[in-house]
Amino acid sequence: MQKKLYLDYNATTPCDPAVVDAMLPFLSENFGNTSSIHHSFGWLAEEAVEASTDQIANILGISPDNIIYTSGSTEGINMVLKSFSNKYKPSGSHIITCKTEHKAVLDTCAYMEKYEGVSVTYLNVDTSGLINLNDLKAALRPETVLLAIMYANNETGVIQPIQDIAKIIADQNIFLFIDATQALGKVELYDALEVADFACFSAHKAYGPKGIGLVYYKDNKAKKALHSFIQGGGQQKTLRGGTINTPGIVGFAKSIELSCENLSDDMIRITQLRDQLEEGLLRIELSSSNGHSAPRLPNTCNISFPFVNGADLLRALSKDIAVSNGSACNAASENPSHVLTAMRIDPDLAFSSLRFSIGKYTSEEDIIKTINIVDKEVNSLREKNILWERRKN
Ligand code: PLP
Repeated sequence: MQKKLYLDYNATTPCDPAVVDAMLPFLSENFGNTSSIHHSFGWLAEEAVEASTDQIANILGISPDNIIYTSGSTEGINMVLKSFSNKYKPSGSHIITCKTEHKAVLDTCAYMEKYEGVSVTYLNVDTSGLINLNDLKAALRPETVLLAIMYANNETGVIQPIQDIAKIIADQNIFLFIDATQALGKVELYDALEVADFACFSAHKAYGPKGIGLVYYKDNKAKKALHSFIQGGGQQKTLRGGTINTPGIVGFAKSIELSCENLSDDMIRITQLRDQLEEGLLRIELSSSNGHSAPRLPNTCNISFPFVNGADLLRALSKDIAVSNGSACNAASENPSHVLTAMRIDPDLAFSSLRFSIGKYTSEEDIIKTINIVDKEVNSLREKNILWERRKN
C-alpha cells in the first residue's frame, strides 16, 4: 500500500521520535506528581518541570516565572480573553480582535458578548489578509481593555504586523494578546514576544504532544489581570489548578528545542518546498493563491480551484493525501471559510479552496506527487461539472 501524503501540518504534527523518547521515562519509572513534596518521586518530577520550563523560557526569550501551562491554545485563549470580562472592568469591557482569528478566539468572544455583556469589535482585513492600522486606531475606546490578534493565520499563514499594531496601543492601558499557536517553530518570535502582554502556544503544532500548551504573561501587571478558571490544588501559583502534566511539559520543551534550534535552515528548505508546491498547483488552469501577497508562514499555501467543490476535492484526495479546507477545528462547518470570506473572496471560490501545510517530514517527492494527484483530481471533477463543460464550449 502506498504511504499517504500528509500535508496538514497546521492541523497537527506528528510527535518527533526524540520528543517521545524524552517523555517516556516520565510516563513510566519517573511518574511522580510535582505536588508530592515529601518524596523523591515528586522531587524528580518537579526537577524535570523546572528544567523544561527554563529551557522553554530560554529558547523563547521569556522569563520562566511568567509561564502557565494549559491543555493547549484553546484553553489559553479562553483563560486570557475571559479574564477581561466585565469582572475586570465593572463599567464594561471592550475587546478588539479580527475577523480572521481562529474559532477559539471568535467563539470565546461571541460567548463573552452573549453571556458577559462584553462588547467586541471585529476588525476587517484587506484582500491580502492584513488588518488596516487606521481601522484599529478608529476602533479604540476608553473602555477598550484587550487587543487579541493572531500572529499567523492557520488557514493562509498570513502574518500580522505585530510591532506596528503594538505601537498603536502603546501607553493606552490596553493589553496585547497574541495567539502565536501557528508561529511556533516556523518563525522567530522574539520581537513579537517583546511587545506582547500575553501569548499562547500549543505543543502539538510543533512536533510535541497533544494536551499541553502554555500562556505567557509579560509582567506583574499582566499577571494581576489574569483570572484563574480552574481551582483546586493551588498549582501554578493558583492560576491554574490541577496536577501538572510532567510528561507533556518535558515533551513540549524537547519539541521547542528541536523546532527552534535550526529554525532558519529548516525554514529555507520548507519555503522552497512550499513555493514548488504552490507553483505546481498554480499551473492548474484558473487556480489562484490566497494570502500570498502578505508576509506569511513558510509552510502554508491556500489555493482556490474554480469549478471544483472543495468538499468533493477533499473526498477525492483523501485516499492519497491529507489536506484540509481550513481549520481542523471547524471542519464540520457547512459555511465557506470565514477567513477567506473576510478577505473578500467570493463564497463560491472560498468553497473551492484548500489549505496545504507542509512540515519537516515533507520531501520533494511528496510535493511532486501531490501536484500530480491534485491536478488529476481537479480535472476529473471538472469534467463532471456541467458549468465547466459549458465554459469550455
Ligand atoms: N489558534 C490557532 C491559530 C490555531 O491554529 C489553533 C489550532 O488549530 C488553536 C488556536 C487551538 O489550538 P489547540 O488545538 O491547542 O487548542
